[in-house]
Amino acid sequence: MKLRFLGCGDGFSVEQGHNSALLTFADTNLCIDFPESNHASLHQMGMKLNEVKHIFVTHLHEDHINGLSKLALFHRVYPGKAKPKLYVPTGLRDDLWQVLRHGLELTTRGKRVFEDYFDVECVDETFEIAGMRFELIRTQHVPDMLSYGLLCKPYFYFSGDTRLDETYISKVAGEVQTIFHECHMQDDQLPSHTSLEEILTLPVSIQEKMLLMHYVDDYVLADAREPFHGKQKLRLAEPLRVYEW
Ligand SMILES: [Zn+2]
Ligand SMILES: [Zn+2]
Repeated sequence: MKLRFLGCGDGFSVEQGHNSALLTFADTNLCIDFPESNHASLHQMGMKLNEVKHIFVTHLHEDHINGLSKLALFHRVYPGKAKPKLYVPTGLRDDLWQVLRHGLELTTRGKRVFEDYFDVECVDETFEIAGMRFELIRTQHVPDMLSYGLLCKPYFYFSGDTRLDETYISKVAGEVQTIFHECHMQDDQLPSHTSLEEILTLPVSIQEKMLLMHYVDDYVLADAREPFHGKQKLRLAEPLRVYEW
């Protein structure tokens, strides 16, 4: 199994793309979230949008879903072997179509529905692709908003957007080799995200399993980054970098 970050910046990043990762395994792929910035990253990898086979949506903030409309239209104009399969947490399905339908519902060939563009599968706890099992983990992003991380044992946990849930992270650290965790890398507290200060409260053995993602472009001035990382021993996800198990 390989995971490649198509983007690892926050919602305002212009340098690193918005946070999204492409998993490849068993001759297929799964994209976690689909921001608009994925198009350029896939192009750099020599992949076309119609080669994306499965997508999982963690939550409905626009930096995680603002490429889905283009993906849907690309597949209609340049069909791949099959429609892309969209795994959507059940509680998000109708709201997601409400977001997308303004650009997709009316066409010159008549009215379209969500399923004309995607093979939509509502998921609650787990789903499986080519024998690989993925578990949805409810996260603590914005109060009352549905948001999820993705667990794929024994390989990784991908937090999605969330505040730090220390209890869960301590538990999952014993079940996976790598934890991809969001961290805005600033000292100030953004109440719906995780700060560097909070990550540094975790045991070093857990920090060593972590790769931080969804961070701001200017977390440290460029020429100060090397000494910064030497001191912190924390790893940051990088766009297009491949992580393999
Ligand atoms: Zn986000
Ligand atoms: Zn978010």
